[in-house]
Amino acid sequence: MVKRALLSVSDKTGIVEFARGLEALGVKIISTGGTAKILRDADIEVTDVSEVTGYPEMMGGRVKTLHPRIHGGLLCLRESKEQMEEAAKEDISLIDLIAVNLYPFEITVSRENVELEEAIENIDIGGPTLLRSAAKNYRSVTVLSDPSDYGRILKELRSSGIISDKTRAELAVKAFRHTADYDAAIDTYLSRTLLGEEVLHLKFADGVKLRYGENWHQKAYFYKDSAIKGPSLAKAIQLHGKELSYNNYVDADNALQTVKELGNASPAVAIVKHNNPCGLATGESLLQALHSAWDGDPISAYGSIICTNEVFDLEAATFLNGKFVEIILAPDFKPDALEYLKKKSENLRLLKLPDLREGFGAEYTYKYVIGGMLKQSRDIGIYEKWESVTEVPYPENKRALSEFCLKACKATKSNAVILAYEYEPGNFMVLGMGAGQPNRVDSIRKLAATKAVENLKVIYEREQPAVPFEEYCQKIMSECVMASDAFFPFDDSVVHAAENNIRYIVSPGGSIRDNEVIATANRLGVALVFTGMRHFLH
Ligand code: 5GP
Repeated sequence: MVKRALLSVSDKTGIVEFARGLEALGVKIISTGGTAKILRDADIEVTDVSEVTGYPEMMGGRVKTLHPRIHGGLLCLRESKEQMEEAAKEDISLIDLIAVNLYPFEITVSRENVELEEAIENIDIGGPTLLRSAAKNYRSVTVLSDPSDYGRILKELRSSGIISDKTRAELAVKAFRHTADYDAAIDTYLSRTLLGEEVLHLKFADGVKLRYGENWHQKAYFYKDSAIKGPSLAKAIQLHGKELSYNNYVDADNALQTVKELGNASPAVAIVKHNNPCGLATGESLLQALHSAWDGDPISAYGSIICTNEVFDLEAATFLNGKFVEIILAPDFKPDALEYLKKKSENLRLLKLPDLREGFGAEYTYKYVIGGMLKQSRDIGIYEKWESVTEVPYPENKRALSEFCLKACKATKSNAVILAYEYEPGNFMVLGMGAGQPNRVDSIRKLAATKAVENLKVIYEREQPAVPFEEYCQKIMSECVMASDAFFPFDDSVVHAAENNIRYIVSPGGSIRDNEVIATANRLGVALVFTGMRHFLH
């Protein structure tokens, strides 16, 4: 039976209708200041909390319901004779139902330039306490923390006169989850504001169910980190296409991180497949960057995810005619490009990320392993030093290409080796990628170098330069830079690079065989730089 209810809500949505429904069922209503006023204005009979407690609401509203007459009424164990006698002795009346929602802390702190004082005043104390008291005693008390539940509770009361055990249990869990998320939001804000620390709290109540996981038989969810500043998939606006799958999230995140590495100075495009950028390029225009990124691996680009730092235009959209891609992620889309792409495919997911050009807010990355979560600071920067270690000095005019190459390497699964080419002054492209091999030498000889030659063949046949392919290929390879994400444990990587006519290599260095590696580079006339910074990505 529900005889007495306490209503105290910040978000007043639906509260009048709910209270009217309760009143019609003979339920007596207690309420706090603002809520009581709204109900009285709607001619609903209300008892003020201050009348129940014998104290006015005080400390500017900080203390309203924190009183034994309220919490005793919620927490008293109905099946305990002693507790029921105690309640009667202290003139505590039982409360059977509460509807409480909390001061809007998250909305307050999400506003630009919010003052600490204002944020603190929006930390609800009495509300979570009410929710927790009622939820703890859920066997006897119904706890509503969400206006969307009002309707079904009235329905249940009207049809059976009681609230079922199952409903009360469900609502209690919901209330505890709500207060946990609420406290998490406070921790996130105060850790950042008072201590300069970043913490991760995912809002489990807001998890988005995905169609399936990595494979069709796996269940999957996406939990947003809504407190994160800067660009992230949590804030992507989907303009068109099928909903994102689990793998789409993983690959789109890689594409976003890879493009962000290249900054905003010129149009950049990353093409990602299976969590590796198989294409990456900069260009004078978006079209040029896209075309060059596509040339980095036209076979793998089938079914890929594309991310760019430029507003997607019609020229770039037209280039994709007849090419299958899963997602395009961009700061925005020109109206004609959007229209074109929408017609191209019903399924193509178009994601707009308005703050894509802003800096990343994420300081840490996380990885769940069975039994725990690993946390590490993000891999920021590309090198710690720039030490030319060979007899052939590393030319300064290869520095910009080398930096591009290292950035591509950073985004590629280890063992990663990237071959990159300055295809016109100041514009770069990945020509060959060796990713995810359990040894480094295969990433070079079996993948990066082989892929580069294959890709050059396609470009050669399209452009038909007036030299034989061998000559064309050797010249380009001799102008490329090769970057390795970690040191060379043996000199074989340098040998294979030189066999493929590669003359410039960037590596962190730091192997016990560095001297052997340098000696081999000297013997083969290769220029080598040690950067002192490893970029494993597993
Ligand atoms: P009202 O608008 O009715 O005056 O206030 C409703 C809000 O007060 C609700 O969000 C509720 O969580 C909150 N609240 C209820 N009791 C207390 C209390 O004792 N202290 C504080 N700080 N907030 C309370």
